[in-house]
Amino acid sequence: MKVVAPVESHDDHFFWAGAKEGRLLIQRCSSCGTLRHPPAPMCGACLSTDWDAQEASGRGTVYSWILSKHPTREDAEPRVVALIELEEGTRLVSNLVDTEPAAIENDMAVEVCFVEANDGQVVLPQFRPAGAAGGGATR
Ligand code: ZN
Repeated sequence: MKVVAPVESHDDHFFWAGAKEGRLLIQRCSSCGTLRHPPAPMCGACLSTDWDAQEASGRGTVYSWILSKHPTREDAEPRVVALIELEEGTRLVSNLVDTEPAAIENDMAVEVCFVEANDGQVVLPQFRPAGAAGGGATR
């Protein structure tokens, strides 16, 4: 799979480095403990700029989703873009894989998986139905 590689910054380098290690890391305010995603330089709850990262369990539920189709490329496969609510309480936008749109429901249990792109140069945290481990392109 080919994707536009993420442009990493000081604030989100940890997220992409974690993904390459097969870990889903979420930014956490060091002062008040609030989790936030996407990563940002300042806590929206207490305005602290001190932060670290917490490894998420990778378990969550589908909060909402859409089926995305490229507007001009007929050969591009549609993909499911989902807002995932992690069990830690924060949400992130990702893709749902190893499932069909007809099988997707809000609140369905999902788990993180890691998909390599660009010949392994990029690793994308994505989600699949919980218990669906064993897919070909995911780990
Ligand atoms: Zn805070």
